[in-house]
Amino acid sequence: MLPFRRVAIIGLGLIGSSLARAVRAHMPTVVLVGTDRDPGVRARVTELDLLDDVADHPGAACIDADLVILAVPLSAYADVGAEIATELAPGTILSDVGSAKQTVIDQLAPHVPQGVTLVPAHPVAGTERSGPDAGFATLFAGRWCILTPPPGTDPAAVDRLAAFWSRLGSRVDVMEAAHHDLVLAVTSHIPHLIAYSIVGTAADLEDVTRGEVIKYSAGGFRDFTRIAASDPVMWRDVFLMNREAVLDMLGRVTEDLAALQRAIRWGDGEALHRRFVASRDIRRAIVEAGQDTPAQDFGRTTGAPEAD
Ligand code: NAP
Repeated sequence: MLPFRRVAIIGLGLIGSSLARAVRAHMPTVVLVGTDRDPGVRARVTELDLLDDVADHPGAACIDADLVILAVPLSAYADVGAEIATELAPGTILSDVGSAKQTVIDQLAPHVPQGVTLVPAHPVAGTERSGPDAGFATLFAGRWCILTPPPGTDPAAVDRLAAFWSRLGSRVDVMEAAHHDLVLAVTSHIPHLIAYSIVGTAADLEDVTRGEVIKYSAGGFRDFTRIAASDPVMWRDVFLMNREAVLDMLGRVTEDLAALQRAIRWGDGEALHRRFVASRDIRRAIVEAGQDTPAQDFGRTTGAPEAD
């Protein structure tokens, strides 16, 4: 049996449009409705025929939906929450895909009407692209989706949402929002911050030309630029909305970086080697867990493999 019969998606960019494509592929009889604040995006989604109905505003999209999913930047949640509140019928599950979770509970809980259940979710899947043309149906296949129901949430609602994500091919975990934010700070948010920082540093160097940075980018820099090309609005919001966990983890990272700096300064090859061996083991574990390809150079098919 299908976990939901009418799903509304608010925000039809990379994640929202991927969700629409995935629902169509795996649950074709579900009625799909959605909206986006950008009229160009609404027109494009209509052209791509991703939904049964494209509404003009979030409230209209939510009418009669038994699952509503926000797929907008985190800074838009409070406004969208206020806008849809009166249209959410008792029995509806309100969810989302945001990359930080405590902020979702803080922003949405005040707007959730009696009888509606808030079950925030985060599909740990994405790319550095944005917009409805960037989406694809298999984005969530084999990837984790983390549900972060607030304490006291009806377990039946959590099970229904878990069934929905499982149907899309995701593996589902449930954890507390604060713990999610700490875990994702270290696995996603800090790596993005480091990428933004290193790309900025290279761009600002005075004694290395921009041409040289681009020409020799295969020495590792290129992989940072892919991450640093991620959506600026989304990532601004992630750092502002997951501030405490990011600052906490950043303190740890800074200390570890200082330890590596010291090892280099004192010629402590043993310390460096120990750290690098441990890192390689983590990479191996990620590939073994099916979270990345074992192919050389991340499976890139163009150009000859280049040494770092
Ligand atoms: P995206 O491609 O930029 O799409 C977001 C869409 O939402 C845009 O079309 C945007 O329109 C629209 N929007 C903004 N405010 C709105 C509002 N008030 N009402 C209706 N639509 C609104 O972004 P995305 O990558 O799909 O990210 C969406 C959410 O997914 C974020 O919360 C993010 O944290 C989460 N997420 C992203 C990834 C990833 O890798 N990208 C992975 C997991 C989760 P405008 O362009 O006019 O603002």
